[in-house]
Amino acid sequence: MQSFGYAAQSKTSPLAPFHFDRRDPGPQDVVVSIDYCGICHSVIHQVGGEWGAELFPVVAGHEIIGKVIAVGSEVTRFKVGDPAAVGVIVESCLHCDNCKADLEVYCSDGGARDTYNAILRSGERTYGGYSDTIVTPEHFVHTLSPKLDPAGAAPLLCAGITTYSPLRYWGVGPGMKVGIVGLGGLGHLGLKFAKSFGAHVVQFTTSEGKAEDARKLGADEVVISKDADAMAKHKGSFDFILDCVSAPHDMDAYLGMLRLNGTLCLVGLPDQPLSVLPFSLLANRRSLAGSAIGGMKETQEMLDYCAEKNIVADIELTTYDKISEAYERVIKGDVKYRFVLDNTSLRAK
Ligand code: NAP
Ligand code: ZN
Repeated sequence: MQSFGYAAQSKTSPLAPFHFDRRDPGPQDVVVSIDYCGICHSVIHQVGGEWGAELFPVVAGHEIIGKVIAVGSEVTRFKVGDPAAVGVIVESCLHCDNCKADLEVYCSDGGARDTYNAILRSGERTYGGYSDTIVTPEHFVHTLSPKLDPAGAAPLLCAGITTYSPLRYWGVGPGMKVGIVGLGGLGHLGLKFAKSFGAHVVQFTTSEGKAEDARKLGADEVVISKDADAMAKHKGSFDFILDCVSAPHDMDAYLGMLRLNGTLCLVGLPDQPLSVLPFSLLANRRSLAGSAIGGMKETQEMLDYCAEKNIVADIELTTYDKISEAYERVIKGDVKYRFVLDNTSLRAK
């Protein structure tokens, strides 16, 4: 299949139009015509060479919403015309213990393969959602309720599940005090989820200008993290903190805010090692953890939960000709609160 998208040819070159081939759909494949794709900070880390091994040219994008235009003969959950969504991974072994436990992202037999910038077990290269169509095995495609605004739903496929999964795993709910660090794409969805699960939610931000928005998004309290006095008031008081920050920052400051047996979970992925004082961990028997997106079953559960509770991302819709400007604003932390690309702007090229 001929496909068209926007690709980075190297870590320094701007994104530019790119024609490429995708596999013809097999019996288990779903072909999705892409309407919207979110701009995740991971794309910027990765395509900018911060995380190492990239396979150029990279057609990025893993927050994909569109409509089904073809299905293979063994596909059961989709028919032509259905709304559909594809997230961060498009392959795993499906038989290891982790895959069988619906945790494909932690596949222990060869690993999960990303929607872009990866090589599948067949040897095929993956290209993501900054393109007109995508061919994906049904197992890695999600149904989408027509109740959800499709553009606002796109970020749920990465930012949404990445925050939903740890909040669920650590049992966030009523009676718990929960911190969300960083009000970006992940952070603002983490805030919405934590609030909807019934926790008392404190949003930490470096950006004074985001404080009012944080309250509107559901924060019970907002702390400007540069304000040492405001930070000190929360010492030893949190059950759980979800750290969504994309750059190196002071981990001890947040660990020190955990109460007995509290957990700080990192979902942000700065390119530099983060330092931690052992004393910050042993006081209050604290845990430092990490979490990667979520499995396919939980991603579908999250999408269905969002349809029920009317949760989508707050987005700025943009077009491919303005993608460099969007990247620069993401790097500056200046987006309210996720850019989503309108893929019809791509079809017009
Ligand atoms: P984003 O929209 O750019 O948000 C990051 C936020 O971090 C910014 O809005 C800013 O919030 C804060 N921040 C930025 N620089 C900072 C600094 N130097 N010190 C303190 N705070 C700073 O990014 P995103 O798309 O939400 O992604 C966040 C991170 O999660 C990225 O590293 C991304 O790669 C990673 N990620 C991980 C997974 C996973 O599976 N674990 C999945 C997707 C993304 P304030 O202005 O409020 O301070
Ligand atoms: Zn992402």
